[in-house]
Amino acid sequence: MADKSINCKDCGNDFVFTEGEQQFYVEKGFNNEPVRCGDCRAAKKAQRGNGGNRGQGRSGDNRFNAPRMGRF
Ligand SMILES: [Zn+2]
Repeated sequence: MADKSINCKDCGNDFVFTEGEQQFYVEKGFNNEPVRCGDCRAAKKAQRGNGGNRGQGRSGDNRFNAPRMGRF
């Protein structure tokens, strides 16, 4: 395996999918390569708050479980 250059779907910049990351993906059993650069992934995650849990099946219910903290 070698480092791979991928074009980010969101911002259009090229980013490097490193050998180490590829290894990580294989170990996790992911079939898809990342389509976004780290920045865009972080931005997406920050936006949604529950990113990275695909496959858990209940992300849509999160708002009902949100604690009533009254912080806002
Ligand atoms: Zn990007």
